[in-house]
Amino acid sequence: MKNSYRFLGTGASTGIPMIGCTCPVCTSVNPKNKRLRTSGLLRWEGKEILVDAGPDLRQQALAAGLRDLDGLLITHPHYDHIAGLDELRVFFLYRQAPLPCLLSASSFAEIQARYRYLFDKPDLKANLVAQFDFQILEQPRGVTRFLGLDCRYFTFSQGNVSVTGFRFGDFAYVSDIREYPQAIFNDLQGVKTLILSALRFEPSHVHLTVDEAIGFAHRVRAEQTWLVHMGHELDHDRAEGYLPPTIRLSYDGLELEL
Ligand SMILES: [Zn+2]
Ligand SMILES: [Zn+2]
Repeated sequence: MKNSYRFLGTGASTGIPMIGCTCPVCTSVNPKNKRLRTSGLLRWEGKEILVDAGPDLRQQALAAGLRDLDGLLITHPHYDHIAGLDELRVFFLYRQAPLPCLLSASSFAEIQARYRYLFDKPDLKANLVAQFDFQILEQPRGVTRFLGLDCRYFTFSQGNVSVTGFRFGDFAYVSDIREYPQAIFNDLQGVKTLILSALRFEPSHVHLTVDEAIGFAHRVRAEQTWLVHMGHELDHDRAEGYLPPTIRLSYDGLELEL
């Protein structure tokens, strides 16, 4: 199995089309303007790793033909990144073992508060809920082992929520970023493929704009940067025309060989 990354979803928190919206992007017939909530499937050194579990997870898993899953990375506990946790219970049936899940202490605390029943012991005779083997990152940045793989992680923020970024080899995932320490550029040094969030051209309190993402990507100097978490203000074809050649707009279903 080659290393790859599949974009399961590339949209902002509402998904595109947004409920009730009749704007040109929400009503566009271009399939690249249909965006499920941002999530991805990383295949790395033989392991299949889901990045976030949003509210569109079931639809995304069916579209990707997902059957084997080795682990889950959680970036932060906003609804659009964890609302699909319950759907992962099928993997307990397939694996007969809890799914390893790597996340920050603050994400863990929030999930514990909101999903109390996920922490009950599995009972196959009762209603089965998803089962996770949580691996908690105690530091804001560092290197850990996950599924036997080296993983570098680092922290940035979105308003008052801490968000975790992950790096495997020369691949890095940075979504839902607004404020960040300068050390992030050390953590991202030498990255060849960068997944980076950008909401729209207009300023946002919780996301980078397209221009801010371009500036961030230029500092990382990855060979390829792919934008995710895009809002309905961004028409795919028009926004792509605006970007420099090493920075691209992703779309649902796109798969990169790494
Ligand atoms: Zn989000
Ligand atoms: Zn719209």
